[in-house]
Amino acid sequence: MAASGELSLEPRGGMLSLADRWPLLAQPAALVVYLCATVGLAFGAAGYLATSTEFRWSELLTFVALMACGAVCIEATRRLGMPAGVSRDLLSAWWLPAALLLPPVYALLAPLPLQFLLQIRVRATVLYRRVFSAAAIGLAAGVASLIFHAVVPGRMGAPPASSWPLAVAVGCAALFTVLNTALIAIALYMSDPDTRWRDVLWDRERVLLDVVELCLGVLVAIACGLSPVLLALTLPPVVLLQRSLLHAQLKAAARTDAKTGLLNAMAWQREADTEIVRARRTGETLALLIVDIDYFKRVNDTYGHLVGDQVLAGVATALRSQLRDYDVVGRFGGEEFVVLLPRADVAEARRVAERLRSRVGRMAIPVDDTMISVTVSAGVAIMSLHGDDLIELLAAADLALYRAKELGRDRICLPVAPESPPHARADNSDGGIP
Ligand code: GH3
Ligand code: MG
Ligand code: MG
Repeated sequence: MAASGELSLEPRGGMLSLADRWPLLAQPAALVVYLCATVGLAFGAAGYLATSTEFRWSELLTFVALMACGAVCIEATRRLGMPAGVSRDLLSAWWLPAALLLPPVYALLAPLPLQFLLQIRVRATVLYRRVFSAAAIGLAAGVASLIFHAVVPGRMGAPPASSWPLAVAVGCAALFTVLNTALIAIALYMSDPDTRWRDVLWDRERVLLDVVELCLGVLVAIACGLSPVLLALTLPPVVLLQRSLLHAQLKAAARTDAKTGLLNAMAWQREADTEIVRARRTGETLALLIVDIDYFKRVNDTYGHLVGDQVLAGVATALRSQLRDYDVVGRFGGEEFVVLLPRADVAEARRVAERLRSRVGRMAIPVDDTMISVTVSAGVAIMSLHGDDLIELLAAADLALYRAKELGRDRICLPVAPESPPHARADNSDGGIP
């Protein structure tokens, strides 16, 4: 989910409200309906299939062996921890074989024990997210399983090395990935309509990982179909891959600010430094903005810190949505954001800053029965004109921001050149841009 699990639950007046106790109730009504419908559908399908499936010991034992492998995988990577928000693992290496080798009811049941284990052993996230994840995986795997068994009849038949069932297995594994991603993407979109679909669905790393998961799942299914004992040989490489995947995700999380998903101050500073060195070498222009939310303390005082955090996340998303992929945006601290605009000159920097200001000003964040709106002020500094390194540019942009605050907020300012005569300082008073 887009929101991280790190929200600080600060009870107002010492009492936890119903929404604080049940975070699901604080979500938009459409999202609540969607989540409940998905979970209800998964439970209904599991119940229906359980009553219409003839259970066999051999299948039950294979299921237990697959779940045991999943549990070993989780335990073997547990100490690394798990990054906040939507994270990826390779557990489908265990539930895909369950979908391809066993009757569909097992595909629906498989996520339950492993998600439970993740919840109690790795990270206790908000319960409704965990339950929804299990339901989304179960439904996706259930549909893949139903289709596979309809096309390739016979029970406990591995997708053998012959090409036809193998092709169907690969197709069904791909369908599992697409369905699971779609179910989660819809929930993300409903929780935050500003989410960019491309960010959720199509980035190269994600697709590569999907392909790895698919290959692993089918290979483990083939091995397990030949003999469940072969699972012992598939376990070590899957554990190793899972560990390196988590390591990469944790490295990325260490660069990210958990509340906003933007770069944190240290990571931003490192990237900004690199861009500045490059701009100096190539002689290109570059601009730096400091964007500060106006009167943010009032938001906290009126609605509480939890809502304040939502506003911070909303502003961060709005800023990101207005910038190019290669602009470097981070949370500098508190309610302050920093943006580095490579190749931007004065006119471009002003245009971008103004666009950010007006986008945030038009944004309304729904909270309880009201909509919260905030404005931002921004200080703009241009490389060579106002500073030659990061420290100088930050200092110049900070001074400009201070000026924007003094002039009444909800505006953008550039530093005032010391030698400018007073009348020349109002050169940019168009549209709230002093
Ligand atoms: P100004 O227009 O002059 O910038 O006023 P302001 O109220 O925005 O600035 P001030 O520096 O007085 O207050 C900043 C507030 O931001 C105070 C602090 O509690 C709040 N804040 C800082 N970090 C966070 C955070 O992570 N979450 C929440 N909810 N509030 C935060
Ligand atoms: Mg402020
Ligand atoms: Mg501030």
